[in-house]
Amino acid sequence: MERTLIILKPDCMRRQLAGRVISRLEDAGLRIADCKIMVLDEKLLNEHYAHLTHLPFFLEITDFMESVPVMVIILEGNGAVERVRNLLGPTDSQKAPAGTIRGDLGLDKMRNIAHASDSVEAAELEVARFFR
Ligand code: ADP
Repeated sequence: MERTLIILKPDCMRRQLAGRVISRLEDAGLRIADCKIMVLDEKLLNEHYAHLTHLPFFLEITDFMESVPVMVIILEGNGAVERVRNLLGPTDSQKAPAGTIRGDLGLDKMRNIAHASDSVEAAELEVARFFR
């Protein structure tokens, strides 16, 4: 069974949307394999967002991501990685189509509800990183 990792981000947690997001994923047939609430620290975020360190908004993202505890969830199901990315929609909530989680609930590029692994390889690395 394929696994993927999602993080319900601070905007989702603050706005108390976690239940709605999880329901949408479960309704699509994905199963929660493991789950925890944690405060992300600088070391973890530097690893997780290593591909963004050169960008001008990197500090803004890490400040945002460590601002309140987030929910980290391992989901499993057939084709889980691609399915969850499709259910989430594109990064920019303003451009995400209606019917996607970001399109319906997200606010902007940064406050876009959730992170989801973008490949099977990334999912394996991220599961190991967040559930070590
Ligand atoms: P995704 O999360 O869709 O895979 P990226 O890996 O490109 O997207 O970016 C990681 C996260 O960084 C995004 O989910 C978003 O929270 C934030 N981000 C990306 N681009 C911007 C931007 N232009 N301004 C502010 N935050 C951004």
